[in-house]
Amino acid sequence: MKMNAKFVEERKVALEKRREELKKELNSSADQIAENDYDAKFIDLGEKDDENAAEVAMFEKNLSMEKTLEVSLYNVNRALKKIEDGTYGICEKCQNPIAPERLNAFPSATACMKCKEKSL
Ligand SMILES: [Zn+2]
Repeated sequence: MKMNAKFVEERKVALEKRREELKKELNSSADQIAENDYDAKFIDLGEKDDENAAEVAMFEKNLSMEKTLEVSLYNVNRALKKIEDGTYGICEKCQNPIAPERLNAFPSATACMKCKEKSL
């Protein structure tokens, strides 16, 4: 089954917008080290023990945020690649089409609801 071109185009716009948002968010908590690769920022506050503890806490917060954002960015990029390849909207696990409602809510979804539920 071929995806509706207009529907795919709309998802592409949504994905590109999401990609820009993710990059912006990543830039505030991480340093970009390569295309699509980021490292959490370590902020140097000072040498005192309580300052070091605050630094570690901040770094851990940035690190977990960076991980989450990076995974989202990875998924968005993968979905955009699929649009280019013409495989967008096909479940990676069972090769069946993913429901448009699901793609509407999660444009970067790579598995259908059934397979997603199975993997949980
Ligand atoms: Zn599936």
